[in-house]
Amino acid sequence: MERKPVPYRAPDEEGLVKLSRPKTKAAGLASVVKAGKVVSKSLGWTRGAKTMFSLNQKGGVDCPGCAWPDPDDERSKLGEYCENGAKAIAEEATKKSIGAGFFQKNSIQDLSMLSDYQLSQLGRLREPLVLPAHSNNYQSISWEDAFAIIGHQLKELSDPNQAVFYTSGRTSNEAAFLYQLLARQYGTNNLPDCSNMCHESSGVALAETLGIGKGSVSLEDFNETDLILIMGQNPGTNHPRMLTALEKAKSRDATIITANPIPEAGLLGFRNPQKIKGLLGATTSLTDLYVPLNINSDLALLKAIMHLMHMEDQKKPGKVFDMNFIKSRTEGFDDFLDSLKAQNFAQLCRTCGLEEELVIQVAKEIMAAKKMIVCWAMGLTQHRNAVETIKEIVNLLLVKGSIGKPGAGSCPVRGHSNVQGDRTMGIWEQPPEWFLSNLSQTFNFQPPREIGFNTIEAIKAMHRGYAKVFIAMGGNFHSATPDTDFTSEALQKCELTVQISTKLNRSHLVTGKTALILPCLARTDKDYQDSGLQQVSVENSMGIVHATRGVLDPISPHLKSEPAIVAGMAKATLGNDNRWDQWVADYDAIRDLIQQVVPGFEQYNQRLADPSGFYLPNVAREGTFLKGKAHFTVTSVPHHPKNSDEYIMMTIRSHDQFNTTIYGLDDRYRGIKKGRRVLMMNEGDMRKAELHPQDKVNIHSTYDGKTRSVYNFKVIPYPIPLGNVAGYFPETNPLVPVDLVAEKSHTPVSKSIKVTVSKVQG
Ligand code: SF4
Repeated sequence: MERKPVPYRAPDEEGLVKLSRPKTKAAGLASVVKAGKVVSKSLGWTRGAKTMFSLNQKGGVDCPGCAWPDPDDERSKLGEYCENGAKAIAEEATKKSIGAGFFQKNSIQDLSMLSDYQLSQLGRLREPLVLPAHSNNYQSISWEDAFAIIGHQLKELSDPNQAVFYTSGRTSNEAAFLYQLLARQYGTNNLPDCSNMCHESSGVALAETLGIGKGSVSLEDFNETDLILIMGQNPGTNHPRMLTALEKAKSRDATIITANPIPEAGLLGFRNPQKIKGLLGATTSLTDLYVPLNINSDLALLKAIMHLMHMEDQKKPGKVFDMNFIKSRTEGFDDFLDSLKAQNFAQLCRTCGLEEELVIQVAKEIMAAKKMIVCWAMGLTQHRNAVETIKEIVNLLLVKGSIGKPGAGSCPVRGHSNVQGDRTMGIWEQPPEWFLSNLSQTFNFQPPREIGFNTIEAIKAMHRGYAKVFIAMGGNFHSATPDTDFTSEALQKCELTVQISTKLNRSHLVTGKTALILPCLARTDKDYQDSGLQQVSVENSMGIVHATRGVLDPISPHLKSEPAIVAGMAKATLGNDNRWDQWVADYDAIRDLIQQVVPGFEQYNQRLADPSGFYLPNVAREGTFLKGKAHFTVTSVPHHPKNSDEYIMMTIRSHDQFNTTIYGLDDRYRGIKKGRRVLMMNEGDMRKAELHPQDKVNIHSTYDGKTRSVYNFKVIPYPIPLGNVAGYFPETNPLVPVDLVAEKSHTPVSKSIKVTVSKVQG
């Protein structure tokens, strides 16, 4: 029997979307009501209250949402979380669950007809499942047999590099460390992760210029800074508690400048839901200057600002550029300055699509500030020139001497709760030699030195039939990755795909010949091992490592923790080494191993006892940089030449969404409800193309002679610059060519895709 074809994409949406004016204020009572509703509906009041009162509290559960840090000092007893943190909890701690009986009645083809939202509403996965070769339905399997299938398939491969071990950013430090150990003892560095698709560009740029691929600021720096420049980021939806830090900064008279192609409610006004007056509607205006620049013109904006600063510095030498800092702490300034002098200010402003007067105002504010922080997210990292844009941010911080001191520095805001920690634990296709050498000494084996596959290379290796086993520790690889049809074909060519998951998603439906679903404990679940109740640890966006401990009884007795699943796979693959059982029996033992391999984790178990956690060393924060010097970079301004019928498209996330998880069909702050298949377009562009609100269009991108399309999207008018459009991820992912990646970081170019639009007739 042949397996029937499985649709790669979610079905079209019927009916009109509901539109209203985009909001100018975020959070407030509406977000508290929404949080209460989703949690009580999904968990019930008792289970809900138990979880939410421990969420982000010292000694409690770390939010599985974004990686924004918790305050070091006092935390609100009423609720140290945001609306989207509550949605993340409602999603993972739901009382609903599905087991083998459900899959007996529903084939993978049936389930593929559900939307991503409908799939996520089915509930937690209750037991291990196998989709045998040729079969259309998952069926129950014992843990022992599931591990045996994995061990057998891995041992069958003629080269360990034919296996791919993917990780999403939820995985704890302990599970991630064991997982990379399994991959390397098996013989491969094929450890791609979701970082490859988001902040890899930040990591590359910051490591090359400052000596560490992480941000330099702490939350305390927001209380001491004079100015915060926020670029390519929508914290109101993606990192909502950042708004509290911005509000505090405003109360100390800091200036906030926002550069983004669309105005986001969370950056304009904030109603703090932790304060009575915020609940009653009192709003703090956050952004002082909003800069509505063209997609991917951030680098041009930074150059324009620094060009003006240089002109002013010539009039008042030493008053604008921090020459003491530049001379003593940096390298490459002369070349940087030569290239800056050659810039044409008017041309840079035209590239950005901005009035010169606005850029002059921005430069004046930046010149007036003694200490500044620059924050950014994927609006900057997913372009061909992303690494250079972030290096230009570093240039700006360096000319101002605004790094390595309180109230100043770089702040790449990470999207998934432990994405930074997983990388620290060695989830990386190109680990540094010192890491491999420490691993070798601690475990007495020779880890592979050959660079492994990143996410894009892994997709291509599966597509050409080389990589045959794909194992995913969490996440939704199929929907998170670009070029959906190509990725689907790639996954379907595998002999075996394994998903370690809490809930059903599209990656369980577009599978290899044989597929396994291994259901794991979620972060909110209590994790009992032989030595008793366990805690795990994570690292947030500001490099603080802290513990997290589940509070709920697991939904099913058949779930295993991620460390236990890794140990099961390792024993079935590498031989029956009892040390894996000892490590899983007491996670303190895993942390004892981590401290031997990873610098900064000395006395890991002891320091984890501090409920606030501990800071990892950071050469950019400490101002010691790469052998004492930070590096200026000479970059070039990117251009997007296009025909009059072409637009530059960015993929964005809605407010009812976290990465690939769809919580609902509304994007409340942007005034878009009851639908996700929309294309946001400037009204001027709509008139020119003779399109009307809610007209159905197909969207096309052509790259290297191949045209990719998505169908039946509704056009909606939106305040976005002329020539720019936006659509939701993952619905528009099929338009992102797998070969179109950022230079050096190989991050998919999901934020600057050239597209055309054709109206659907009838
Ligand atoms: S800001 Fe991020 S980490 Fe904090 S509660 Fe919200 S989603 Fe969770």
